[in-house]
Amino acid sequence: MSLEIIPLGGFSEIGRNCVAIKHDEEIVICDMGLSLEQYIDYTEGLESGRAAVSGKKLIQIGAAPDVNILGDLRKNVVGICITHGHLDHVGALPFLANRFDCDIHATPFTAEVIESISNRDGLPLKGRIIKHPINGRFRLTRKIEIEFVHITHSVPDTVGVIVHTKDGSVAYINDFKLDNSPTLGPKTNIKRLQELKGIKCLIIDSLYAHKTEKALSEKIAEQMLFDALLSMDTKGKTIIITTFSSHIARLKSIVKLGERLGRKVVFLGRSIDKYAQASENAKIHSFKSQVKMVAYREKIDKFLATLTRPQDYLLVATGHQGEPKAVLSRIVTEGKLRLRPDDIVVYSSKIIPAGQNEQNREKLDKFLRSKRVRILSDLHVSGHGAREDHRDILQMLKPQHIIPTHGGMRQLEAFKDLAINELSYKQDKVHILYNGKRLKLA
Ligand SMILES: [Zn+2]
Repeated sequence: MSLEIIPLGGFSEIGRNCVAIKHDEEIVICDMGLSLEQYIDYTEGLESGRAAVSGKKLIQIGAAPDVNILGDLRKNVVGICITHGHLDHVGALPFLANRFDCDIHATPFTAEVIESISNRDGLPLKGRIIKHPINGRFRLTRKIEIEFVHITHSVPDTVGVIVHTKDGSVAYINDFKLDNSPTLGPKTNIKRLQELKGIKCLIIDSLYAHKTEKALSEKIAEQMLFDALLSMDTKGKTIIITTFSSHIARLKSIVKLGERLGRKVVFLGRSIDKYAQASENAKIHSFKSQVKMVAYREKIDKFLATLTRPQDYLLVATGHQGEPKAVLSRIVTEGKLRLRPDDIVVYSSKIIPAGQNEQNREKLDKFLRSKRVRILSDLHVSGHGAREDHRDILQMLKPQHIIPTHGGMRQLEAFKDLAINELSYKQDKVHILYNGKRLKLA
């Protein structure tokens, strides 16, 4: 019997998700993400740009998982399995994956995102990126089989990674909600989650464990957008919407909204263009026939300069956190697009409570209000499950051991409380770990 969990990043903290799962001498790593706040603070101060960033430095400043914890065990890593394409799960791959002599395994959309970020950073990956379908199962080594169980989140092709061994299975479900009415792609594979037997340990997203809620469906976010915009007097008004670039389902709803409003949809910004391209390549959803894409700064400025009737368009821009360099802030504050009273700016997003975000948004909104622009905030639902989603997953999988992750102490303690006080787990079966704190499973 030999199963061990070695936390490398994202334990007792939010960001840089990464864990090593050791069975006998072999190790599988799940996820290799960045802590975006630390990463952005550091790279924005660099004059030489991203090419100068090293994995060593990112580990030092807490922006990347501390893979040094593995020491000589580094040689024993037989595969890196990625759950989904958010940067706090894939973003450190270009800086750290080449330290390991193995392939990277991901679903098609996630694989496209990995290729795109490693090209962007000019840091080619040594290992192959092997694509597996959602709900696929493959043999990694003689002793380890991997299963990708599809689970809903706010980016396509998200999976829970199940590491099957003769000593039991470890399930790594990090970022999920149970969406019964997704607007893109299938529902969570509940049937398979219920069938899985012998889950020795579940490592699970606990971000909203303190909220006595069940996550709202993406269908609700779509309805929020439709209700707000279709009931307002939008005739003759400029409308700009901003959202998460990787949120393909939301972008699809926005395109539907454009159709209802009788407006041509335009995506403005490099990051939306990149994710739309990944969606196209992975055959998730094609925007090509319905949307005009304008990716680069000069082209955006040129497009806006020649735009005589903005009221005929639904403009979708990057910059939902009010980031000064993103498209939304730039075009409105620099006057690239002249906004008039009763024009509308829609945030199909929530402020991420980290770093400069609140201040940036306040500054941008103050500017918009000075122009008497109408602001619609928070037309959004989260991609993370809450306490009642957690309860459902625990009841489906019935894991022997539980390790909540993706949370600070408040969230982890709330998850522990659910497991112990409401689902009768024993104290010694629920583990709050920190990076480097290994756990041998008996
Ligand atoms: Zn995520």
